[in-house]
Amino acid sequence: MIQDIGPDRLYNTWEAKKPDADSRIMAFHGNEICVMNGGRIEFPTLGTLTAWYGPDWKKLPEPVYLFSLARDKSADRTDYYLAELPLKYDSLRTGAPGSAGIRGKASCASRPAPPDGCGYVRMSALRTRQPKAQVFAAATAWHLYQWYRDNRHCGRCGGPLLHDTRLRMLSCPSCGSTVFPKIAPAVIVGLTDGDRILMTKYADREYQRHALIAGFTEIGETAEETVAREVLEEVGLRVKNIRYYKSQPWGFDSNLLLGFFCELDGSPEIRLDEEELSVAEWIDYRDIPEDTEGISLTRDMMTCFKEQRSREKP
Ligand SMILES: [Zn+2]
Repeated sequence: MIQDIGPDRLYNTWEAKKPDADSRIMAFHGNEICVMNGGRIEFPTLGTLTAWYGPDWKKLPEPVYLFSLARDKSADRTDYYLAELPLKYDSLRTGAPGSAGIRGKASCASRPAPPDGCGYVRMSALRTRQPKAQVFAAATAWHLYQWYRDNRHCGRCGGPLLHDTRLRMLSCPSCGSTVFPKIAPAVIVGLTDGDRILMTKYADREYQRHALIAGFTEIGETAEETVAREVLEEVGLRVKNIRYYKSQPWGFDSNLLLGFFCELDGSPEIRLDEEELSVAEWIDYRDIPEDTEGISLTRDMMTCFKEQRSREKP
């Protein structure tokens, strides 16, 4: 799955650190992230960006520490920081008089121009790229970026929020309100009936391959109750024997995904919620396609069911 990046490891404990020239910078705009050009995903260093943007870099807010990546047990960690790129910059004019004059792409009012050798890639296009450790780092950075971006002011009194130095936390000096990172728990449900598992397709999403029933946990609800409620709402079926399987951080949508298997209890007749789903069907384990990406908990669960049934029925 996306978080399985061994022998690399992501260390996400908050530290009040400042970047050095080798620190990697994650810079987002809209739903895109700035990456170095090339087949493999790599993020620009602070040294590259300060050299390119010159004095304009110093006018930007301080980069915010995100996490570090290291080979297991290695002391040699690479730190990752969240930063903005200058929307407009004009200190690097090198062209002849009368020319456009700005090195690289011309400054752009709607999107910060990336430095030479870099470009933007959509987050949704990133998840199947390599190396996986950098993709997982980008998804985690995206989750943190959205939280920082959407929490600049206090929701209680409207005052500006400040970054705490001891914890990954924002606090309001006016009213004392504190804000912690937002993680939305959601369940993924492997509903089985003998040799069959229930697969679905979403009604209006970009993702059009088979999925499993999934949904957000409501306030005041256990994860197991979410499983039973989502199955009843989306396909009108009842379940029993709900068992926790695995979890997955899914930064693309600010989720913590909790995978559960359960069994059909009673009638297998599907009553489809057509606002949520376009398809819900029972699929025999022998017809489950191979997981060629190794990214999502959903496909990991499909594969787990297929392998388990194959072992039981050689
Ligand atoms: Zn406040």
